[in-house]
Amino acid sequence: MQKLDKIYEGKAKILYTTEDPASLIQYFKDDATAFNAQKRGTIAEKGIMNNGIASKIFEHLKAKGIETHFVQWLNDREMLVKRVEIVPLEVIVRNRAAGSLCRLLGLAEGANLSCPTLEFCYKNDALGDPQVNEYHIRALNFATDDEVKKITALAFKINEVLKKFFLDLKIELIDFKIEFGRINNHIILADEISPDTCRLWEVGTGNKLDKDRFRRDLGNIEEAYQEVLRRVTQ
Ligand code: UDP
Repeated sequence: MQKLDKIYEGKAKILYTTEDPASLIQYFKDDATAFNAQKRGTIAEKGIMNNGIASKIFEHLKAKGIETHFVQWLNDREMLVKRVEIVPLEVIVRNRAAGSLCRLLGLAEGANLSCPTLEFCYKNDALGDPQVNEYHIRALNFATDDEVKKITALAFKINEVLKKFFLDLKIELIDFKIEFGRINNHIILADEISPDTCRLWEVGTGNKLDKDRFRRDLGNIEEAYQEVLRRVTQ
């Protein structure tokens, strides 16, 4: 499949059109950003590792009956995806407290939650992806009520599938961010799922195998991503 025009470049990925109007090539970069892009850097071969990890995760979700935009892994840094209209929401699911939830509620990192939680943020870099609720989403037409219902159900289902997927690899899924797209009047999972977008703690040691190593300068960043890739492809 030939790359034609670049139609979008984000912080970690680029999207290109192809000869097929219904398909795009999603290219994974090594660039890393944190704290609303105030911290920038590169993680060597991150794009290769995230393309591999995300491909495996999308294949697993498909096997579990969850529709995604993933079509196939193409090469080291590229996957073929279905063209969708991205819903302008970041959906965050949490199994334990970390990051912004700790700051918001004064919780200790890793504090237990008695059930998973879900938050919506409006995808807008200039505003720092502010959290919004279902009333904002309805009033500003970010998504319909029916779409919000579907997205919510899908997000919790994806959480259950991924919690088990990672636990089998001796990794605890602490939280993650996902995005959805519209295609033929329905909603499917889009974007990526990788150590850039999840918090992944090694069972037993609590070692962080995700972008927090970059955010907090913990070192061994490439090794952590490599370890996730090794486990998901084992
Ligand atoms: N996340 C993401 N992109 C964002 C914001 C968050 O992928 O723009 C992921 C993040 O990696 C973590 C989860 O969503 O796995 C929850 O992030 P949180 O709200 O705690 O934000 P942070 O502490 O990173 O500011």
